[in-house]
Amino acid sequence: MSVLVYIEQAEGKIKKTSLEAVSFASALAAKTGEGDVIAVALGSVDQAELASVGKAGATKLLHASDSRLDAGVIQAHATAVAQAFEKTGSKTVVLAKSSLGDAVAARLAIKVNAGLVSNVVELPNTDSGYIVKRSIYTGKAFAETSLTTENKILAIKKNAIDLKTDGADAAVESLEVNIPDSDFGSKITATERATGEVLLPEADIVVSGGRGMKGPENWGMIEDLAKTLGAATGCSKPVSDIGWRPHHEHVGQTGVKVAPSLYVAIGISGAIQHLAGVNSSKCIVVINKDPEAPFFKAADYGIVGDAFEVVPKLNEALKAE
Ligand code: FAD
Repeated sequence: MSVLVYIEQAEGKIKKTSLEAVSFASALAAKTGEGDVIAVALGSVDQAELASVGKAGATKLLHASDSRLDAGVIQAHATAVAQAFEKTGSKTVVLAKSSLGDAVAARLAIKVNAGLVSNVVELPNTDSGYIVKRSIYTGKAFAETSLTTENKILAIKKNAIDLKTDGADAAVESLEVNIPDSDFGSKITATERATGEVLLPEADIVVSGGRGMKGPENWGMIEDLAKTLGAATGCSKPVSDIGWRPHHEHVGQTGVKVAPSLYVAIGISGAIQHLAGVNSSKCIVVINKDPEAPFFKAADYGIVGDAFEVVPKLNEALKAE
């Protein structure tokens, strides 16, 4: 028995969300007695990265190194994971909830006849049955789903699980897969773009600016603060609509949904459509000159003040730490 984990990678590096999935699988295997946690990585992945999944709790990593599997070939990935599933005799697949994760999970569910629950936030309750808690309505509520199928797929919401880092390196084995050419017929090209060093959807810290920043020429202070914190930068929708910032930074219901440990909102009013993209953040800090700004109701910490005074001072104080 084993729990299989589908690993996502970008440019050879394993995504943090996949390591969270491994951590989840490790705790799940310990709870259900499913034994080994076997990670499956596809395409060209840095060798040093491969063994590192062990730190998050994987006992073994199966690697299909065919470079055609590098990115975006969803059908081929689903076929490869299904073949690993059959080979290992697993009953459960865990993966990160993401655009790619969802697309692969849906196809995999058909191939291996599995029940699928997405946006999972904690280990299933197995006291009576198999009850999975998942986040719904953009993080505003939870639903409990009973999984009754023998084979199960769980897609884990990002930042919902503490990352395990104290495991030993995993044994790496090559995975032979037999994927028909037709599975490579369509390919999704990557749309996630990094601002600076950090990918917005994956970022652990996000510094976002709104219309209160007055214009694109003032974004230097957002970028400076982001650099100090090792954060990605985001923005409200009007800011990207006006062209102050690129569209891929637009956070909210109609933009990128983030779930960082820390979300810093500067000069953003906190409209419900913006909150829909950030309300899974672990800690929200709001800087706004209007004490009645709705964002303060969702904030863990708030600073009422002019961003043009507060942000440079905050940045200096953080740099001095
Ligand atoms: P504003 O509402 O103009 O707020 C600016 C804020 O800055 C104010 O609170 C003000 O007090 C503050 N401020 C001004 N000057 C300063 C200063 N010097 N220092 C500090 N604070 C200052 N919006 C999104 O963001 N994401 C979405 O995904 C999204 N989807 C939408 C979907 C639909 C269907 C619709 C109808 C709207 C959507 N919107 C979305 C728009 C949303 O309703 C708001 O209009 C938008 O979020 C407001 O952006 P803002 O807070 O930057 O601007």
